[in-house]
Amino acid sequence: MSCNLELFERGKQSIPGGVNSPVRAFGSVGGTPRFVKKALGAHFWDADDKRYIDYIGSWGPAILGHAHPEVISAVQQAAVGGLSFGAPTEAEIEIAEEIRKLLPSVELVRLVSSGTEATMSAIRLARGYTGRDAIIKFEGCYHGHSDSLLVKAGSGLLTFGNPSSGGVPADFTRHTLVLEYNNVEQLERTFAEIGDSIACVILEPIAGNMNLIKPSEAFVKALRGLTEKHGSVLIYDEVMTGFRVGLGCAQGLHGIQPDLTTLGKVVGGGMPLAAFGGRADIMSCIAPLGNVYQAGTLSGNPVAVAAGLSTLRLIQRPGFYDELSASTRRLAMGLEAAARDAGVPMCADSVGGMFGLYFCEQVPASYAEVTASDRERFNRFFHAMLEEGVYLAPSAYEAGFVSIAHTDAIIDETIAAARRAFARV
Ligand SMILES: *Cc1c(COP(=O)(O)O)cnc(C)c1O
Repeated sequence: MSCNLELFERGKQSIPGGVNSPVRAFGSVGGTPRFVKKALGAHFWDADDKRYIDYIGSWGPAILGHAHPEVISAVQQAAVGGLSFGAPTEAEIEIAEEIRKLLPSVELVRLVSSGTEATMSAIRLARGYTGRDAIIKFEGCYHGHSDSLLVKAGSGLLTFGNPSSGGVPADFTRHTLVLEYNNVEQLERTFAEIGDSIACVILEPIAGNMNLIKPSEAFVKALRGLTEKHGSVLIYDEVMTGFRVGLGCAQGLHGIQPDLTTLGKVVGGGMPLAAFGGRADIMSCIAPLGNVYQAGTLSGNPVAVAAGLSTLRLIQRPGFYDELSASTRRLAMGLEAAARDAGVPMCADSVGGMFGLYFCEQVPASYAEVTASDRERFNRFFHAMLEEGVYLAPSAYEAGFVSIAHTDAIIDETIAAARRAFARV
């Protein structure tokens, strides 16, 4: 019996579903999850000692590849100095300064331990600042698992076909309005009707939890214009896109200054670190300066900050994002060409180090379009690639991630594997 299967059976005895986050269970694609033994660069090895080219990179953080020596060394050095203090450190200021330098929209920033915490706190802050309750999110966007945001969320929920989660009182989501991504007309109509009661709009500025969906320029501009006009806080949830699509994040690509930004994934370099920040007048409403409460025992944890700080420094090497974008584009275009040659209707798209594969004729622009893609064929392709030693996201509704350790040779090896896989699906 495979060790992965043994571990999966054993894990289920002690952990719900054998996993600590639902998408890891392979529920949507079927089969046995791969248990990771170790990872290095673009690869990881599973419990059966099989090697995979990894295209999830811990769902985004591993932008430098796994176990980058400088990041590991920074973590080791920090760890021997103590794991957690519950008192401030200089390194926390350094990473805050680094974030401010890279994101001009961020004047003050607070560190937390997960993306969920960052978005939850940003929403509370926006409500505290405006004195309004209603919030707007978009269909298919995922902002972590806090109560008021689990409304038609993407990611794991989309995969399991639930419109929302059990355990969330209807009252808690009563103030959450869900609109369609890229629908400018609906957005304008909504703001015309109730704009002055909207505390904030939270957006995945490039959606990565319903596969990869880019916003139109008109959508992004309308959002900034309408929120400004009505005094609503615009929150760019860049937990996934932050330092993933470019050094200036999605807001840099859009040329938009959001009021608040949430960060996670890459900013922690693989450790539990996330952040939210933005305009000083809004951020000053947070305790101890203001009356919006937010706190955390492990917030700004020194080991996590060391990983994040060394990662943020390494991605600033000149040419880093040109290289990463070129590799990712090479992969996306190569896979699309391989599908075309095999007569499989699949298209691909990419931005920075993120890519999307869609088993349909055209790159989708909304949740409705992406869920109309051929999921069964994706699942067959996923398993064929897994056999070939290529680990894609185990769901048709997730984006993929490339790291700087994915060399052209590794990408070409992936495309060659895909040619064999497409022939079988
Ligand atoms: C991953 C993600 C989150 C949640 O972050 P966690 O660290 O998993 O809590 C929030 N928003 C977006 C856009 C994400 O991709």
